[in-house]
Amino acid sequence: MKELVGIAASPGAAVAPAFVLEDEGGQAVPAYSLAASEIPAEWARFLAAVAKARDEVAELRDRARIEAGDEQAAIFESHLLMLDDPDLMERIEGSLAASLRNIERVVVEIESELVGKLLKAEDPALRERAADIQDVSRRILGHLLSRERRSLGDIAQDVVLVARDLLPSDMLSMDRGRVKAIVTESGGRTSHAAIMARAFEIPAVLGVAGALAAIREGMRVAVDGERGLVVAEPDAAALARTDAERAAAARRDRDLSALRDLPALTLDGRRILLKANIEVPEEAEGAVAHGADGVGLFRSEFLFLRPGEAPGEEEQYRAYRRVIETMAGKPVTIRTLDVGGDKVLPSAGSSDDRIEKNPLLGWRAIRFCLSHTEVFKTQLRAILRAAVHGETRIMFPMIATDWELEKARALLVEARAECRAKGQEVPDYIPVGIMIEVPSAAIASDILARRADFFSIGTNDLTQYTLAVDRGNRRLAYLNEPYNPAVLRLVALTIENGRKAGIPVAMCGEMASDPAVATLLIGLGLEEFSMSSASLPAVKRIVRQTDSGRAADFAKAAMGLSSSAEVAAYLSSLPRS
Ligand code: PEP
Ligand code: MG
Repeated sequence: MKELVGIAASPGAAVAPAFVLEDEGGQAVPAYSLAASEIPAEWARFLAAVAKARDEVAELRDRARIEAGDEQAAIFESHLLMLDDPDLMERIEGSLAASLRNIERVVVEIESELVGKLLKAEDPALRERAADIQDVSRRILGHLLSRERRSLGDIAQDVVLVARDLLPSDMLSMDRGRVKAIVTESGGRTSHAAIMARAFEIPAVLGVAGALAAIREGMRVAVDGERGLVVAEPDAAALARTDAERAAAARRDRDLSALRDLPALTLDGRRILLKANIEVPEEAEGAVAHGADGVGLFRSEFLFLRPGEAPGEEEQYRAYRRVIETMAGKPVTIRTLDVGGDKVLPSAGSSDDRIEKNPLLGWRAIRFCLSHTEVFKTQLRAILRAAVHGETRIMFPMIATDWELEKARALLVEARAECRAKGQEVPDYIPVGIMIEVPSAAIASDILARRADFFSIGTNDLTQYTLAVDRGNRRLAYLNEPYNPAVLRLVALTIENGRKAGIPVAMCGEMASDPAVATLLIGLGLEEFSMSSASLPAVKRIVRQTDSGRAADFAKAAMGLSSSAEVAAYLSSLPRS
């Protein structure tokens, strides 16, 4: 028996023999030189491989739409965009002609350059976009080298799927009736594999170091997706634990599905808004399906991070309008571009602009937008025009001072005037809020509340900046604790200052999706929680079990504690029905 620990990415438990997906990454890609006269034929070989890849992806997209919904289909839609991207094709052709090397090497090199850039992004979701690029590139390489990835479509028995990494196309092509659980060495809670495993309700443990070395084909494997445990060749006690977890998961699912259409009301009748965080427009459909009260955070930078030119006003307008119309009258909060620092825009700035000693303390988000006013105003015009199609709010990220909010608002006024000058219809009023994710903003939230129509607390960055800990640095993970009393005080202060100023206060950082802390947040007076759609029912259940008066007492006691460990222990002591 061997026990492995990873990231609990999708709840549930299962035991089955392992189906090990061989690792393609290690397979050699040939390298050789070409004469200039051979380049046209080499390019034609590449175009033929791209055409085959395109047909395959289009088929996967159509299948995804029928079998898995628009959100999953959108992943393949984005792969098609990459395969049709003229800038990318031009770059590959240019590099082929300049290097006089076989096209496989050129593809591998450009892939690793793009993936390298994305993997440096501090936002885990952005890092996961690297998987899309790898998926497309491996597909093209597969055709160039006439290699097929082992098919997951004809798995003949129940299995636990074990792989270094799973591509979106693997997730879609596998027989979902047969794959009882998933274990991968890479990935995290926000990877496509995790998102799709949750959507398909398959237990998954990701980021399991050493899984491929420990688990061989056919070996019995027990997976506990709730605790992030994987046991190869489990003994009787481990099997019993898995059975108990399976029964508990089935009970939880039954309870949660019954909640989907019930309102998020506390026991004493206080309405809590539960909204969805989305990264791409297609996710709005999932938000509706999970009964979200709106979109509390649309991370618009995802529109900008595809290779090639940044999207223009029309493309952005269509994306925002699509989300607003999908939400059918429920409010949509669009956060303006949060790039810069180490989230590099493919199209922005000279290389000098991109190099900063301390990117996380650098030219990010609103700071970047206030010095790229044309990029910013283009986005504001697109949002304003889309806003006539439904209730829309604008939210500025990384506001650290009142001056930035004043300046951003002035640019919004200009953007509105520019739309009107062109005869475009835009609303006279649109609520303008800010993320509270820099300690200075939380501390001065009373000042900022005079100019902001709402706040949304971004605990991911607020924790990072309060404790001076890079949120992506594993060695410092022990410090990156949202339950830290300093972070909780800033959260409480922001809620209190919002209340005094009479403006709504939401939370859209990961803390909002943590059911364990929901009572405390309700007790502090938080009115709106925004999180990935799949997390909504579990938080709703806590809301419906909470009496807000008792939650206030509970919060008061929690705020007197002196460490994250004490807070965690106190939160878990709260009796639940
Ligand atoms: C946050 O910082 O908490 C937040 C929601 O923004 P992001 O995770 O996109 O930085
Ligand atoms: Mg943030």
